[in-house]
Amino acid sequence: LFSEPGAGSDLAALGTRAVRDEGGDWIVNGQKVWTSSAHLARWAILIARTDPGLPKHRGISYFICDMTDPGVEVRPLRQITGEAEFNEVFLNDVRIPDAHRLGAVGDGWKVARTTLMNERVSIGGARLPREGGMIGTVSRTWRERPDLRTHELHQRLLALWVDAEVARMTGERLRQQLAVGRPGPEGSGLKLSFARLNQQISGLEVELLGDEGLLYDDWTMRRPELVDFTGREAGYRYLRSKGNSIEGGTSEVLLNIVAERVLGLPAEPRDDKDVAWKDLTR
Ligand SMILES: Cc1cc2nc3c(=O)[nH]c(=O)nc-3n(C[C@H](O)[C@H](O)[C@H](O)COP(=O)(O)OP(=O)(O)OC[C@H]3O[C@@H](n4cnc5c(N)ncnc54)[C@H](O)[C@@H]3O)c2cc1C
Repeated sequence: LFSEPGAGSDLAALGTRAVRDEGGDWIVNGQKVWTSSAHLARWAILIARTDPGLPKHRGISYFICDMTDPGVEVRPLRQITGEAEFNEVFLNDVRIPDAHRLGAVGDGWKVARTTLMNERVSIGGARLPREGGMIGTVSRTWRERPDLRTHELHQRLLALWVDAEVARMTGERLRQQLAVGRPGPEGSGLKLSFARLNQQISGLEVELLGDEGLLYDDWTMRRPELVDFTGREAGYRYLRSKGNSIEGGTSEVLLNIVAERVLGLPAEPRDDKDVAWKDLTR
């Protein structure tokens, strides 16, 4: 329960409100979107605005939300693959006890950033054996189907194989960083490579398979219990990987993070950092 219709990349602009009642509970109203697995979740992590009079990053608090509260309404959103793994979530007077607040009131952005940095490592840095993940699938097809091979595809496959191996070992290094504390912005670099590689590798596999690669026509409404980037047929993987450069932060936004916080390049101009959220144009 992070993204909203008006707050995705600019997440700190979010408008879902949490107001404290006399009993000390928080009453939450607003709309969230793209909420993965909301139809399955018992608990969700939620960020909401607790002080609109403060600049956008400072007036946010972080809560654990009980998805069985009668004010939580979950509606499916279908994806390019036909399935609905994510949802819109409407929050109507949802009651959250103060004990379910994580971090201090107004400190939610700091907690959310830690969550996001962990999410990027968990999306992009899954522990894999050599030739695990998407590169393993296409390598298998390559070995089993000599009839499909061309010299040009061979060169591209080799280059991607090396990139995938480098990304895998970089992931291992990042996990060691995680063991000693919170992940740094380098996790954004790993998630970037993950998205680029998945899209290039699944594209290569569809090319390799030719007509067979296009054999994906399952448009039945499905509510998957697991997100599986590497399962099913090549056509499915090709379509599902399109979301990899959006979920967990878009590739453009992650490039900005790498530029500013890893490479130390000048920050993008931001003129809204010190203005009260309620006075921002939305
Ligand atoms: C499969 C999937 C699962 C998801 N699951 C969840 C979930 O469980 N929970 C959740 O809260 N959200 C989830 N999301 C939402 C995701 O985090 C957002 O879609 C993402 O952050 C982008 O926000 P947006 O869609 O509003 O696009 P926008 O922010 O409107 O971006 C539109 C375009 O503008 C570009 N752009 C925006 N700002 C900049 C900038 N400063 N510099 C350069 N380019 C910029 C973007 O890169 C993008 O191309 C999921 C998304 C997908 C695809």
